[in-house]
Amino acid sequence: MKNNFFSLGIKSKLTILISASIFLLVFISLTLLVLVGKNQHEAQIKNELINVIEDNAQKIRKRSNLIVLDSARIVKNNIYTSLYNENKVFMYGEMPPDFPPYNDFSAGKLKKVAQFYVYDIAKNVYGQKIFIRGIVSVAATKQTFSSLFYLVLATLPVLAFFTVMLARFFIRKAFRPVEQIIHVAQKIQSNKDLSLRINLDNTVKDEIHALARTFDTLFDSLEQAFIKEKQFTSDASHEIRTPASVIIAQCELALENAENEQNKEALRTILWHAQKMSQMTSQLLLLTKAEHCTEILENEEINLSELAEIIAEQQQEEAEEKGLSLTYSIQDNIFVTGDPTLLTSALINLFSNAIKYNKKDGKINFTLTQTDNLIHGRISDTGIGISEENLPKIWERFFQADKARSKKPGEYYGTGLGLPLVKWIIEAHGGTVDASSSVNKGTIFHFTLPPKK
Ligand code: ADP
Repeated sequence: MKNNFFSLGIKSKLTILISASIFLLVFISLTLLVLVGKNQHEAQIKNELINVIEDNAQKIRKRSNLIVLDSARIVKNNIYTSLYNENKVFMYGEMPPDFPPYNDFSAGKLKKVAQFYVYDIAKNVYGQKIFIRGIVSVAATKQTFSSLFYLVLATLPVLAFFTVMLARFFIRKAFRPVEQIIHVAQKIQSNKDLSLRINLDNTVKDEIHALARTFDTLFDSLEQAFIKEKQFTSDASHEIRTPASVIIAQCELALENAENEQNKEALRTILWHAQKMSQMTSQLLLLTKAEHCTEILENEEINLSELAEIIAEQQQEEAEEKGLSLTYSIQDNIFVTGDPTLLTSALINLFSNAIKYNKKDGKINFTLTQTDNLIHGRISDTGIGISEENLPKIWERFFQADKARSKKPGEYYGTGLGLPLVKWIIEAHGGTVDASSSVNKGTIFHFTLPPKK
């Protein structure tokens, strides 16, 4: 994934945008403040220069043929006053030491010379034209304000840090309800528990809280729908199971007494379909229970080695009847904690598939071993195999690679529910199950289970 701004999470994006905006806003405001302050201060200095020089012009005196000014007025508030004759030759007063030579005496005009402001007045005193010049330096003001500006620049990293922290704090707070929504949704998914709710504060009226309330209402409706569906499947399975058992029993009885071969064939077909229906309803019932309850029904200590041995022996007989050979090797004293009925059902499903989908004179091998902290079961056959395309689908409900085959009376009846049930049973015991296969060569089912604690 490209690592740019747009690939960031929404919280990071907002933090960056908000902190950048606050940062720029504060920076621009401070800079403007410094600039405006500097200009105002300069304007004040200029005004004062004009006022002082105009005031001084009124206070010019003659002392023993010399045109002079009170010494206290010569340098006042950093404003230097000097007097010049009509030929612009210096007569009296003082100038700042670093003031450059400057001969423009245009009167009544404020002029900027280097870091100085200069203001000249032309006046006739005692029958003589003179110039009164006022000079003030703005170097100090410039210095003060450029120091202020550098101070603003120096505070930028601190400003950046605080804006990011502030933005992060508020965004995290604002996103807490979203995190709560995600957390609950993930929990519903992992625990398959639709009774969970987000339950945000009902009094808050913002959009996120409204979204959470909408989700909660949605979960309510979904939960109701699932309960109804589960109830329906369970009721339907129960209702079908009893008549199916009656049909099976009656068919078996009728088969014993039937003499006519045509009737016998018809009864066998009915029996085959009734058995398939009966198996499907029991598997459906179990699967519906499984989907809504992650807890194992029974939780007892089981000697899996003994249980597997009994099942393998039975299946060996079945296999031999079909002309197949079944060998097994079971390590002694492997114990698990769980439900013996369910584990039996899972093992029988795997064995009966290995028999059902085998070929003439085929072989089946079963091993059960335990390593340090894991039990391994492996059932391999030399049967028809499963194509690469179909392999991931075998765990889906009602999936059958060859649907036509399971519709033919006399063939093994398949429901497409066996492997989903095996998967649920093994996983409900904390284990895993997977399959590998090669078409026309055979299939291997491998499962693991945690040993008894
Ligand atoms: P079914 O009742 O049809 O056997 P399962 O859920 O047990 O249902 O299996 C689903 C499908 O997976 C089967 O219809 C079959 O196509 C395929 N399958 C399962 N086990 C094997 C096997 N050992 N060899 C070949 N195909 C298999």
